Amino acid sequence: MKILISPSKYIQGKNALGELSRYGKALGRNLLVLADDFVMKMTRGLIEEGNTDAAVTLTFERFTGECSRSEVDRILGIAREKGADVIVGVGGGKTLDTAKAVAHFGKLPVVIAPTIASTDAPTSALSVLYTDDGVFDEYLLLPRNPDIVLVDTEIIVRAPTRLLVSGMGDALATYYEARVCYGARKTAMCGGQPTMAAMALATLCRDTLFKSGYLAKLSSDANIASEAFEEVVEANTLLSGLGFESTGLAAAHAIHNGFTVLKEAHGLYHGEKVAFGTIAQLVLENAAPEEIEQVIEFCQSLGLPTTLEELGITEGVEEKIREVAAATCAEGETIHNFPYVVTPEMVFNAILLADRLGQG
Ligand SMILES: [Zn+2]
Repeated sequence: MKILISPSKYIQGKNALGELSRYGKALGRNLLVLADDFVMKMTRGLIEEGNTDAAVTLTFERFTGECSRSEVDRILGIAREKGADVIVGVGGGKTLDTAKAVAHFGKLPVVIAPTIASTDAPTSALSVLYTDDGVFDEYLLLPRNPDIVLVDTEIIVRAPTRLLVSGMGDALATYYEARVCYGARKTAMCGGQPTMAAMALATLCRDTLFKSGYLAKLSSDANIASEAFEEVVEANTLLSGLGFESTGLAAAHAIHNGFTVLKEAHGLYHGEKVAFGTIAQLVLENAAPEEIEQVIEFCQSLGLPTTLEELGITEGVEEKIREVAAATCAEGETIHNFPYVVTPEMVFNAILLADRLGQG
């Protein structure tokens, strides 16, 4: 069976946060807005000024920084006490995942408002929980996607460029991983086989990055929310989000997960490791040289890592990459979406060859 899932409404543009009550009103009248201290300081005034509809009550609550069961329970208690009927998450990954989890356990609708475009997580029906000490706890697979995803590009353009570029690294993988899953008729995150529609979104995601990625990076440097910037925010958030969730992941993300076993890679962002994983996947697939070259040149133009040295791995390379390759092929990893068996030896070779290509 083929399945496509998505949020009910996706809204993107300058000052989109000022439209919160206009669109949130369809879901409820008492909105609990969750943000960490930094984001609260940056956005609370804008949200209050832009949303003066007397029919809508806004209550602000501080997110303490960890997406854990205890934080979710605490906020759920506040939501009940205040009679909130909509949860709104404003900020980065952990704030948004917490908002999704609170809404899920409280059986309430949720509005997701990312303030950075560094991953494709905002639109997904997935929340990652950690322990209070920040150790991975569990994946919470939610029965539905967010009700509204509200993307304010005037806020995102002021975030550090490295975050946008990392988001492009994450989005870059979408098409190449989708292609593997589509060809192999694999079951995606959404529980069904990929649709043509999801494949078209993944393809458009790649084409948009190649067309507008570099100008979007310059736009971010200059804090100008240009049309190229708007296109790339949409690619990073909507096209990549729908694409990955409704087509599936393959080697690029499995190799990313493999790299997380090395302490050297801990200072890197998700999309930076995924970008290198994408190049390694293409080598693994023995893709056309022009295609691999196009991806490498794109990464280099943005400053995404294309060599092991840029990933911080300079000593004991062979031993470390053997560890990465073993972790990449662990049971349950998405590399097993390949239509043939991929061994750690094949991954090891692909990573070393990708590094050679990246140096050239
Ligand atoms: Zn990703």
